[in-house]
Amino acid sequence: MAGHARAACVIGWPVKHSRSPLIHNHWLKRYGIAGEYRCEEVTPEAFPAFIAKLDAHGYAGANITLPHKEAALALSEPDDRARAVGAANTLWLDRGHLYSTNTDVEGFTANLDAAVPEWEIGRDEAVVLGAGGSAHAVIYGLIEREIPMIHVVNRTIDRAEALRQRFGASVQPVHWSALPHLLARAALLINTTSLGMTGQPPLAVDLAPIRGDAVVVDLVYAPLKTALLAAAQARGLATADGLGMLLYQAVRGFQLWFGVRPEVTDELRALIEADLGRKGE
Ligand code: NDP
Repeated sequence: MAGHARAACVIGWPVKHSRSPLIHNHWLKRYGIAGEYRCEEVTPEAFPAFIAKLDAHGYAGANITLPHKEAALALSEPDDRARAVGAANTLWLDRGHLYSTNTDVEGFTANLDAAVPEWEIGRDEAVVLGAGGSAHAVIYGLIEREIPMIHVVNRTIDRAEALRQRFGASVQPVHWSALPHLLARAALLINTTSLGMTGQPPLAVDLAPIRGDAVVVDLVYAPLKTALLAAAQARGLATADGLGMLLYQAVRGFQLWFGVRPEVTDELRALIEADLGRKGE
């Protein structure tokens, strides 16, 4: 790549909804780096050949979004996080090798570290709502941070059971009906379902029984302040939002491709917030 501007991209099918170009191009400008970040719409059939030739396409690496995250894992050398989560969302080339990670794990924990610095203290039990793709990353993040008990509440209980198989006995599958009882015990509540997102059904959780020192996190970022976060804030609870996670998950990729560890600033947040507002989300 010597002599060329470095480039990276987000690969998806479709890919137009991705906020990654806004985030990375903001950082490229801010750090004065002569690089580019583009969108690549690639079909599942064309994906293996595309990433085998990332270098020839001029890319130092890529973000991977739906539906390619599992294929990206299989076609690269994953780190522990990508392997544990079962999906890769960030690829980079190093001396002819294609490596991968899953930055949703650190996006989740770094966002919490920034929003609620003392979040781990005295928090032995977490309640995770949902058992989909993002729940995998959240649960692995909680395990990395040594939270000993993680209750996973999901409509399809088999998917919560599968998470116990995958991550071990600290994961406890639970039905929605047990939630009020759990809220009285757990001091960390994380919504990883799509409920409460614009266009989706509401997330009906009554926070009445929740502990007064609980921390509440919502991965949904459209709307930015979900009904869950609004209810938590009305009770005076500490919260962390989905936009923060989205921004923090982007940090590592930028560093790997462009060599600078970028900062998540209020200016960047405002830029993405404005975009979410423009799209009516
Ligand atoms: P998945 O499709 O993999 O999982 C969706 C989850 O929501 C499942 O647990 C599903 O339950 C549950 N769910 C969906 N509809 C209902 C319903 N009507 N009733 C009960 N449960 C329901 O999605 P992801 O995990 O990929 O994403 C979930 C959310 O997180 C999305 O809003 C996404 O935008 C957001 N997200 C945010 C990120 C960030 O950086 N802030 C990163 C990744 C995701 P079941 O298994 O029973 O179907």
